[in-house]
Amino acid sequence: MNSPVLRIVVPCYNEEEVFSDTARQLSALLTEMISENLVSDDSRLLFVDDGSKDDTWKLIEEENGRNKYVEGLKLSRNVGHQNALLAGLEEANRTSDCVISIDADLQDDISVIPAFIEKYWQGYEVVYGVRDSRDTDTVFKRKTALWFYSFMKRLGINLVQNHADFRLMGKQALTELLKYQESNVFLRGLVPLVGFPSEKIYYDRKERMAGESKYPFKKMIAFAMDGLTSFSVAPIRLVTLIGFISFLLSLLFGGYALTMKLLDHTAIGWTSLIVSIWTVGGLQLIGIGLIGEYIGKIFKEVKGRPKYAIEKTLYGNSPHLPVLPQREGQYSR
Ligand code: UDP
Ligand code: MG
Repeated sequence: MNSPVLRIVVPCYNEEEVFSDTARQLSALLTEMISENLVSDDSRLLFVDDGSKDDTWKLIEEENGRNKYVEGLKLSRNVGHQNALLAGLEEANRTSDCVISIDADLQDDISVIPAFIEKYWQGYEVVYGVRDSRDTDTVFKRKTALWFYSFMKRLGINLVQNHADFRLMGKQALTELLKYQESNVFLRGLVPLVGFPSEKIYYDRKERMAGESKYPFKKMIAFAMDGLTSFSVAPIRLVTLIGFISFLLSLLFGGYALTMKLLDHTAIGWTSLIVSIWTVGGLQLIGIGLIGEYIGKIFKEVKGRPKYAIEKTLYGNSPHLPVLPQREGQYSR
């Protein structure tokens, strides 16, 4: 009965303030799990530098030099959290049996990681970390996240509530996930689509250790928009519906205006004219904008551009592990 090879993937963008602490805490946890034979000694931490402008990569290199459990992956430029994470997952999947992803600021409680592994041992391919409370997030972030989840749910998009990107995936599930070739990745939406037996583990979300959120309001909106339009055509249907209703209303209105004219009550209202121009014009603009959003997506998908480029890789002091065979039958789980 072999212990699985685990890789913990940590995307880092300008995280020099938290990196050392994060590396220390995760290494301590990893060595502890190795000593308990929960995971194999070939397990590693994989830090993905998402084109940071500060000293993050330098710190990763230094840590890799003195800590055999730390590996690094440097992307050629900033590609955003989801793509950076995907780069790490893809790289990690080549050499691991299971992979856990976690943010560099350790807002997610690392003490539940052994519980993730235990679930994996029990045969779960996907383990979702779910926040019990969001007390440490701002009221604004909490509210907007709540709206977002319920809105997505109404549109039939299956997301795990209060789950961010803190999760474990086994090789089997991850290999399937990596087959999704879309350019607009929204991992939270894709993982449930992949299927396989899954479990949730609950934890309290903490505050960011140091530094600032790398998700300012603008990025949050872009992220939510991406999640929505990558998974649903409901907004287009809504626009069509609104267009249809306003068309019906304008017919009624037209009939009324015509009757008035025939009855010679033509006090022609500039107001009604200008109002309808604005309303219809506005509706058209919304429609065009939304359709444009989708066309933009199609444009991106059609090009099939690579989502990231790896600049450098740093492996532990042990030689690079060969690609492991599928784990089926390897462990008695
Ligand atoms: N991140 C990244 N690339 C980016 C933005 C963020 O790799 O362009 C990483 C960041 O370093 C962190 C994670 O994504 O590990 C989540 O970011 P953050 O904690 O700032 O988001 P929040 O918790 O505020 O939503
Ligand atoms: Mg954070």
